[in-house]
Amino acid sequence: MTTRITHWIDGRESAGTSGRTAPVFNPATGEQTGEVDLATAAEVDAAVAKARAAAREWRASSLSRRSAVLFAFRELLHQRTDELAVIITAEHGKVLSDAAGEIARGLENVEFAAGVPQLLKGGFSEQAATGVDVYNIRQPLGVVAGITPFNFPAMVPLWMCANAIACGNAFILKPSEKDPSASLFLAQLWKEAGLPDGVFTVLQGDKEAVDAILEHPGIAAVSFVGSTPIAKYIYETGTAHGKRVQALGGAKNHALVLPDADVDMAADAVVSAAYGAAGERCMALSVAVAVGDVADPLVDAIAVRLPKLTIGDGAAAGTDMGPLISREHRDRVAGYIGAGERAGATVVVDGREATVPQDGFFLGTTLLDHVTPEMTVYTDEIFGPVLGVVRVDTYEQGVDLINANQYANGTAIFTRDGGAARQFQFDVEVGMVGINVPIPVPVAYYSFGGWKDSLFGDTHMYGPEGINFYTRGKVVTSRWPDPATSSVDLGFPRTR
Ligand code: NAD
Repeated sequence: MTTRITHWIDGRESAGTSGRTAPVFNPATGEQTGEVDLATAAEVDAAVAKARAAAREWRASSLSRRSAVLFAFRELLHQRTDELAVIITAEHGKVLSDAAGEIARGLENVEFAAGVPQLLKGGFSEQAATGVDVYNIRQPLGVVAGITPFNFPAMVPLWMCANAIACGNAFILKPSEKDPSASLFLAQLWKEAGLPDGVFTVLQGDKEAVDAILEHPGIAAVSFVGSTPIAKYIYETGTAHGKRVQALGGAKNHALVLPDADVDMAADAVVSAAYGAAGERCMALSVAVAVGDVADPLVDAIAVRLPKLTIGDGAAAGTDMGPLISREHRDRVAGYIGAGERAGATVVVDGREATVPQDGFFLGTTLLDHVTPEMTVYTDEIFGPVLGVVRVDTYEQGVDLINANQYANGTAIFTRDGGAARQFQFDVEVGMVGINVPIPVPVAYYSFGGWKDSLFGDTHMYGPEGINFYTRGKVVTSRWPDPATSSVDLGFPRTR
């Protein structure tokens, strides 16, 4: 028995009419559990029409009403975190505590957005000229869309929709077709929280739906999170169609471990960040850059930790690491281990040989030493439980290596030297930096985003930059009629 996973349009589940569907699997068993509808351009068009009508009313709602809906949604999501975590684990494979963790980080964005009355406060200049006042306001864009990846089926949509809705827009979510059920759960909670129908829409789909969104004249802006080639395509196509676009791409995040680092603490942090969620995180650490003589003890300390990790069904108690998202992806990741070996890397721990459940899309943890920058295991985003160690002699070589990489999402330094850490923060050309913090995802009142091929567009996601992204500024210059200052003057207006 498979579940039909539908769209959510105008405040209710809406079965697709295209006849096109995609299978959804439980990665821990390898079994198909669902069948998700895939929207056509005509279905996108019909949903946008509903969203446009809803947006016109929603933008007129008071800031206190919007804030009240956000608070109610926050409470519901908080109460029902465990239920949503089960849904996420069943389609993504990550362990339940990790699924609950992504919901908790998503909730931060809802809490931030609930402060919308404060966030949308503008400036006011009394008497900018004699009898003239000037002030600015920020207004919603209308209908905005979010296209999201499989690896955070709740958190990434929450990065986008909380701010977009708080700012008075209608939001259309196009989730990943690999784990689409979380989106419907969120939709149901928005409705229970009192959000008017049509303000939050879910369109399930693949490239056809994405292209229809990018080309639709009724959609003003698109937020995207996913792989770099698709992010670039989204940015180029969306902006060519006159949309505001922020498109976050892939990553290759380096940990720079200095010789003075506490090796055990660095190894704990690197193992957690490299293998958590089976390495399927855009902020996963996938390269450890070992400086000088820290390399041997660091590799040893990581290697002894790996056999202690329990790999299995993410829904089972005691599991540390679940499966990968699909059979194809598991095989692709395993292929990288062979490629690294052939290119001369030392396979210290081989995930292909681990004892793992046979039915699901499992792969053990892999540690590759003596990785060099021209190997594909270094150049490519693998997005699996594979950590490569690159050995360098100096701090400068380590920073040069990181700065030469095409990706620049996150990075972390491990050291006890405050001066070295501060220098690293100054030198490194990466958008998010951790100092003895392996996964430096900013809290919701800062903004999230990488540099270079990890982000296309000017605006980072959520936080203050998210508020700017989902609004546009208007400046009003005002004078109340005063006969004493009235005259005909064809000159360009000057302040007096
Ligand atoms: P993906 O790029 O394959 O898919 C992302 C979205 O794009 C999905 O909704 C998908 O349906 C759609 N899509 C896929 N192919 C398309 C095409 N040809 N045309 C139009 N739309 C298409 O990414 P994924 O595999 O779901 O997620 C993993 C990737 O996301 C990794 O590269 C990871 O680094 C990245 N990611 C980045 C961040 C970040 O913040 N920078 C966060 C999470 C994930």
